[in-house]
Amino acid sequence: MTIHKYPINWERDNYSIKIFCSIPNIATGILLTAGTNYFVVDPGDGILRDLNKEIGTKKILSINDLFITHGHHDHVGGVWALLTYMRVMNKKTPLTIYYPKGCIEIESIYHAFQKVYGKTLPYKINLKVIDHVNTFKSKNVTIHPFPVIHKEYLHDGITTRQVPALGYKFIFNKVKICYGGDTAYCTDLVKMAKNSDLAIIEAGHDDETPDGMHMSISEAKSIGRSAKEYFLVHVPE
Ligand SMILES: [Zn+2]
Repeated sequence: MTIHKYPINWERDNYSIKIFCSIPNIATGILLTAGTNYFVVDPGDGILRDLNKEIGTKKILSINDLFITHGHHDHVGGVWALLTYMRVMNKKTPLTIYYPKGCIEIESIYHAFQKVYGKTLPYKINLKVIDHVNTFKSKNVTIHPFPVIHKEYLHDGITTRQVPALGYKFIFNKVKICYGGDTAYCTDLVKMAKNSDLAIIEAGHDDETPDGMHMSISEAKSIGRSAKEYFLVHVPE
């Protein structure tokens, strides 16, 4: 165990994941590299700066996919900057954004972006709603999305509602990385994390946060230990 300082880096046989940041209410930002393909997961605020430093413009322009676990600002705050940068730098290849069904934040960002830049956009953006938890492939990576339990407060600050939220398991050359996103303890995550080569598990629960939104450190550890290695992330600082 395993609360690390960011960035966190993990690598196995040409397959790596770098977590630039994962701090509740501030930002998340994750880069997944499989061979020569780059994927970004939960591009929160600062992702453009971090990617620029890590891989540079040319590789940023080659990014195939963005994977969004849910629409909270600390997970999508960098999307606009990334899309705009790709436009300014003349990206040519398409970009696909995978997100859970009902995630209006991503759809709103996309529509606003198209309204502002649609006529001058050199690359195509594909929105891919994940409704069913079917496995699919992108480039050389197999992706298993799975539903998780995550909530947000309504305006009264007391009532909560479930938000559309997913975790993802990414498999490259049989190496499995499971990322739960933000979630309360849930059986789908328990199943998916088990025997993964790496599990990235949030432990964002604190005493002021009701259950049903995030996991406590002991819950997160109990899931993490079922994987070969694990990191706890999204821990309040
Ligand atoms: Zn969240």
